[in-house]
Amino acid sequence: MRALVKYAAGKGNVGVRDVPVRQPEADEVLIRVKYCGICGTDLHIEADEFPNTPPVVMGHEYCGTIVAVGEGVRDRWSVGDRVVGELHTGACGVCSLCRAGKPHICDHKLALGSKYHGAFAEYLTLPAWLVHALPDGIPWEVAGVTEPFAISAHCVIERGNLTSGQSVLISGAATMGLMATIWASRLGAGPIIVSGTAMDVEKRFPLAHAMGASCTVNVQEESLRDVVMDLTGGVGVDTWIECSGSGAAITQGIDLVKKTGRAVLIGLIGPETTPIPWNTLLYKEIDLAGCFSSPPSSWEKALAAEREEADKLRQLVSAIIPLEDWEEGFAMMRRGEVVKVLIDMEA
Ligand SMILES: [Zn+2]
Ligand SMILES: [Zn+2]
Repeated sequence: MRALVKYAAGKGNVGVRDVPVRQPEADEVLIRVKYCGICGTDLHIEADEFPNTPPVVMGHEYCGTIVAVGEGVRDRWSVGDRVVGELHTGACGVCSLCRAGKPHICDHKLALGSKYHGAFAEYLTLPAWLVHALPDGIPWEVAGVTEPFAISAHCVIERGNLTSGQSVLISGAATMGLMATIWASRLGAGPIIVSGTAMDVEKRFPLAHAMGASCTVNVQEESLRDVVMDLTGGVGVDTWIECSGSGAAITQGIDLVKKTGRAVLIGLIGPETTPIPWNTLLYKEIDLAGCFSSPPSSWEKALAAEREEADKLRQLVSAIIPLEDWEEGFAMMRRGEVVKVLIDMEA
């Protein structure tokens, strides 16, 4: 089968290769992949800025149809089932984190697409416990963005505790910021302030409004502080959701959270560390909630909301391309001119 492979360590070393299809073991299923989304992580793997163990098939944001079922899981899965699934391959299932429903941060996890053969491939062989049935009526275009939608559910609901009526600042208007906006809007939070830079103004800010933002702020042109203080009676937001991974946004965000407010952090930063106004965190008794990846509970939340939010989610798919065009897809993501690009593995 054709697959996009990181075939050697170092920068680049990514290309389409012919690789074997692995038949499922007793507890596994074989999935014919429909779409696999390009994620920021894939760009980092290509650039060798994210841990990976080549040769490895890349891709982790997948949806598809089951075409073979291991003998141990035939009571749950059948050929023809439409599915999406988690990327927590290698999670041990027995440590305290796994048993608490947190395989996404298990020490043994070998994430799909970086340390375990992933889904930029015609077929994907996967432990069945990672798979979720797709609710009826969800189009593939929407199914293909379930993974980031689950991450944003974890971030906004499970770690953010965001509730109706709370004011919220979302810094960053790429996939994570836009999906956080969907959840904030769905939960009845408001005002929802989305901040970004000049590169977001043309395409992403109109999308932020479509996702439910009350206002968008280009921090290069406008004072975000003035906007936030204006809309919150001068006290700052109840909740700040950091999706940009920008040092400047991080420093400023802490200043814009109200006393006893909450900072929810999902944007990974490029360098190893960034300075933050430490004492401000303490003086204001700000709660910090770090977020990473998507536990099974967040997949349930995402799938339960997916049909109602399908119109919004579909708008976040900017392009669908065949595997041969992967380089252009990666380049579009790097230029920031798109939100999500899906690779059609059947094209
Ligand atoms: Zn991803
Ligand atoms: Zn574990």
